[in-house]
Amino acid sequence: MICDDSHISSKDLLPTSEVSWSYAQAIIDFTTSVIHASSVDEVLWLLTDEFIEILGLEDCVVYLLDEARQKLVQKAAYGHKKSGLARIRNPIELSYGEGITGQCAEKQRSILVSDVSTDPYYVVDDQARMSELAVPIISGGKTIGVIDSEHSQKDFFQAHHIATLRALSSIITTKYDRQCALSDLQESESKLRRLANFDSLSNLPNRHHFLTSLRAATQQYERGELTGIGVLIIDMDRFKLINDIYGHAAGDELMVKVSELFRQALPESLLLARLGGDEFAVLVTDHSLVEAEAVGEALLAAVGDPISLTVADVRTSASIGLAEYHAATADEGATLSNPTPIVQRECDPTALMRLADGAMYRAKASGRNRCVVSSMLGSGPVLSELNMAAAINTALSTNQFELYLQPIVELTTQDITGFESLIRWAHPEAGMVLPDQFIDFAERSGQIGAIDLYMLQQSRECLDDLRRDLQDDISINLNVSASLLSRSAWFDGPTGELFVEGVNIEVTERAVIADTARAASMLGDLQSRGSRIFIDDFGTGYSSLSYLQMLPCDVIKIDKSFISGLGESEMSLSLVRLLVSLAETMGTDLLAEGIETREQLEILQGLGVGYGQGYLFARPMPVTEARAHLKAHLSKNQN
Ligand code: C2E
Ligand code: CA
Ligand code: CA
Repeated sequence: MICDDSHISSKDLLPTSEVSWSYAQAIIDFTTSVIHASSVDEVLWLLTDEFIEILGLEDCVVYLLDEARQKLVQKAAYGHKKSGLARIRNPIELSYGEGITGQCAEKQRSILVSDVSTDPYYVVDDQARMSELAVPIISGGKTIGVIDSEHSQKDFFQAHHIATLRALSSIITTKYDRQCALSDLQESESKLRRLANFDSLSNLPNRHHFLTSLRAATQQYERGELTGIGVLIIDMDRFKLINDIYGHAAGDELMVKVSELFRQALPESLLLARLGGDEFAVLVTDHSLVEAEAVGEALLAAVGDPISLTVADVRTSASIGLAEYHAATADEGATLSNPTPIVQRECDPTALMRLADGAMYRAKASGRNRCVVSSMLGSGPVLSELNMAAAINTALSTNQFELYLQPIVELTTQDITGFESLIRWAHPEAGMVLPDQFIDFAERSGQIGAIDLYMLQQSRECLDDLRRDLQDDISINLNVSASLLSRSAWFDGPTGELFVEGVNIEVTERAVIADTARAASMLGDLQSRGSRIFIDDFGTGYSSLSYLQMLPCDVIKIDKSFISGLGESEMSLSLVRLLVSLAETMGTDLLAEGIETREQLEILQGLGVGYGQGYLFARPMPVTEARAHLKAHLSKNQN
């Protein structure tokens, strides 16, 4: 008999007797145990080992569908079919439609056979019995398994057995769905990691990968684990010309060939990356200056011969800039009387890149096809690492820091929903200094706490003004550092009162990496006070997705490096698409940063990204300008 499942309802489970009470309890206990189980297999054995007996059944076998072979496979058992720990005696497989189990799977209905001797579908497994009940396990409209029970008496199974097994089956479905979602998530994570770290044309590591490795190496150098560290930046000569004459396809082909030639010319252990366009970089560590220069020479030689492309043989060459630190120069000061001076080895990756870049331009200017070396010594900028700490203290005490605001807009209406607060340093000699030049330093020197506090106070004051005078639901996003999230003192007393609904938090993976659990709890606390949590620079981290699972998150900010690629590279487009579906599953909003062109805006609108920010709408601006900008925007909307 096929049961019309709609006639069986949870009322068949209503505790009317001692027996039904224990059934209901079993379902509740099973649900709680399933939460802690780590896999579907574990859940099935949990069911057969601990719950079937409570239901008074003689035996039970749970089948799962093997998708590839379209077979129902026995996965867990109670009673005669069980043999030892998590093992089934003589496991059998059934096709769809085969036996009462196969019928149940095919029809997606519970099947109750009161007397198997009269049923044409009955299949004897280990021994013949008198009655059978099969209940399907269904997920997303598809049968994924069957719970099957047989009994030695006729007419044994009743409505409450069906209702109970159906309830247990739907709990298994929940676990199954969660496991599938998790493996989908893992799959997208590895795709994302590949997209984020490798250049699709050359298969070489990309800029992001290079900068991450460089940062890690500079830290090792600072700890004294490396004797030296150097960066070579390589720019191909006449690439634009080849592109213009032979077309982009030839340009791409040339980049692939050049990548291969460079890779073959260097030992595997050296990190070679394609930074973008016709620019490459190599990271050298534990080298002498001579060895680093030899790397440059090897690269020049690698592209010395004509390169044969589909359309023509072409000649190219490289202009290379080399910048490096090594212990011999950094540790100078060792004397005979004091052979091991304590030297603060500081090495700034951004400065190293800038110097290598400068050297590369000098190589171009002085005739191309050469390698020019730049040294850290003698560059003498106004703000060097040596006087930075003092300069920041002066800046704090004499109000040289300024709050700049950049509008955040809703992409469909282009209404301004808030601002991101960005710091600027109006230095009396160096001019307007951007945060990239001092935030990293302030984090290392411990001065970031004072800077964060200053920005929090300024942002809150500005938020109150804008809400009172112009738009009562406007918000301001604060960029916070690791130090803020590690100080619980921040959240109590007068400082704590600065965090209110409307003060949102932007946090990067870097800020939470040291103590994620603590950061998650701090962010949760801020969220409960009304702050929305934005995960910044998303897509650039190594393990962004795993952070998303651990941290409270209201909005994901897609890093601008992906937005700038929209309309040019298929990769950026597929990454943003991936993020859109990820955000949908997670129930979070998406914000695209660095929107510069109308084309990017249209693509993002088409993909359903909710919010955006970028030069297309407005650049970061001082508070008074931002206020006027918002006012003008509001009055335009009114008209
Ligand atoms: P972020 O949080 O990713 O900030 C976005 C950066 O993108 C800003 O750079 C902004 O000026 C820039 N930007 C905005 N629209 C566009 C665009 O359309 N195209 C391009 N190319 N860039 C755009 P900015 O102001 O130089 O800040 C750099 C980083 O410094 C910030 O990155 C943030 O990590 C950090 N930072 C800035 N202000 C603060 C602060 O008050 N506290 C802390 N702890 N960090 C800050
Ligand atoms: Ca930010
Ligand atoms: Ca960002």
